[in-house]
Amino acid sequence: MAARILNGNEIAADLRAEVAEGVTSLVASGGPQPGLAAVLVGDDAASAVYVRNKGRACSEAGMHSETFHLPADTGQADLMDLIAGLNADNRFHGILVQLPLPDQIDEATIIESIAPAKDVDGLHPISQGRMLQGQPTFLPCTPAGVQQVLLRSGYDPAGKHVVIVGRSNIVGKPLAALLMQRNPGGNATVTVCHTRTRDLPDITRQADILVAAMGVPGAVTADMVREGAVVIDVGINRVDDASRRRGYRLVGDVDYDAVAAKAEAITPVPGGIGPMTIALLLSNTLDAARRTVSV
Ligand code: NDP
Repeated sequence: MAARILNGNEIAADLRAEVAEGVTSLVASGGPQPGLAAVLVGDDAASAVYVRNKGRACSEAGMHSETFHLPADTGQADLMDLIAGLNADNRFHGILVQLPLPDQIDEATIIESIAPAKDVDGLHPISQGRMLQGQPTFLPCTPAGVQQVLLRSGYDPAGKHVVIVGRSNIVGKPLAALLMQRNPGGNATVTVCHTRTRDLPDITRQADILVAAMGVPGAVTADMVREGAVVIDVGINRVDDASRRRGYRLVGDVDYDAVAAKAEAITPVPGGIGPMTIALLLSNTLDAARRTVSV
């Protein structure tokens, strides 16, 4: 039987509508208009598209957003100066630094320079540490997007075996921390796999919920998936495609057609976790603005 398609575009639209209502009521009660500062360094085409989409989604939700575009040869000190200014600028409740950054800039140092109160991407070590301890914080957008797709589609991870392939600081690791928490939306039994994992298919076949976050097109094949599993594809990869006007198409980390024939449910690429990531960014920015009036 064909898998149920978990439509991230629809779920994200619901979430964005909830955020827009939240913005309206925050402003109506005398609170600030939430503002997001997006920082883009260099000319990476995919990053520029992401930042543009995030800015547009902010405006549609009634938020203020500005993009600060710096040249590719920007030095670390200049970027730190910009972030220091944004940390102090009360028009902006959230700061997003689009990754990856050019080689001459140390990403970890830049992420740590963002004020934790404005860390709406949820990547600062303080945000991630608080999440690990189950304390309220800004959740990282992509992992939180995965969690929302599961919950809003009726797949509570509680008690389920979730296998995550990928252990980056942006996706795999924080997702594992989030889903294992003794909190609503958590309580899963989580296994994290990576390139040093032995017998990967053996482990992925044990998954009730399988999350692919590897950055390798089509790496999760049907033989790696248990009949009836829920499959979440975080990967966004460009592969050459001469039949497309732009010369490429986007694919996930999952061999979609073959896995969809076996899974109970699956997220498509595009239109799965990508739009959820943006919706969670808006939700975090609204929260950041709310916090400035409630503390
Ligand atoms: P990274 O490259 O930082 O991490 C990839 C992880 O996958 C690593 O832990 C790596 O293991 C593991 N891995 C790679 N190949 C294999 C393999 N063959 N077998 C087992 N493990 C493997 O990527 P990100 O986490 O940043 O991103 C992953 C994917 O998700 C990318 O396609 C990215 O574009 C996409 N993405 C999508 C987002 C969205 O909004 N939907 C947001 C962020 C990312 P090891 O640690 O051993 O090297």
